[in-house]
Amino acid sequence: MENSKTISDYQKWQAIVSCDKNYDGIFYYGVKTTMIFCRPSCKSKTPIQDNVVFFDNAAQAIAEGFRPCKRCRPDKLFFEPELEILNKAIDLFHVTYNKQINLEYASRQLGVSINHLIKIFKQYTGLTPMQYISRVRVDKAKMLLKQEGIGIPEIAYAIGYESLSSFYKCFKDQTGYTPNEYRKHRGDL
Ligand SMILES: [Zn+2]
Repeated sequence: MENSKTISDYQKWQAIVSCDKNYDGIFYYGVKTTMIFCRPSCKSKTPIQDNVVFFDNAAQAIAEGFRPCKRCRPDKLFFEPELEILNKAIDLFHVTYNKQINLEYASRQLGVSINHLIKIFKQYTGLTPMQYISRVRVDKAKMLLKQEGIGIPEIAYAIGYESLSSFYKCFKDQTGYTPNEYRKHRGDL
């Protein structure tokens, strides 16, 4: 059986354009503008080629911050109850990232213990839930920094930071730049 490593990017792109079912489960593709990932056979509109990134498996796409397409359900190709919990957690964090994070509440919502939630997260993404949330926040901050007329304190508050200094620290840790530097370069960094 072919695997993702032996298929060229050109072949992968052809598979996406023709919605070729034969490649389902062999690779996945994400669309950078929507941060959604799909199976090659997905019938949704063919994305712009420059915006497409390839993944060897669904967990990899999720670890990179992509969310499964609601149409082709790339996470449902094989039965993985833990992946299901992970996806639910990710959905929850994308809705609540700007609130005070309460892992106890989150794990209760998902019907698992906090330790189990942390274990699943680590296993699939290499990150703890808190690290994941902080990544989501920094991603949102990057988008907001590209817009004019929103002050940095406003951004920090809007994405859920209680203090400006913790926002600066998280942003710098993840991007290597201060929010000011990032803004000055209009996100070209
Ligand atoms: Zn899809």
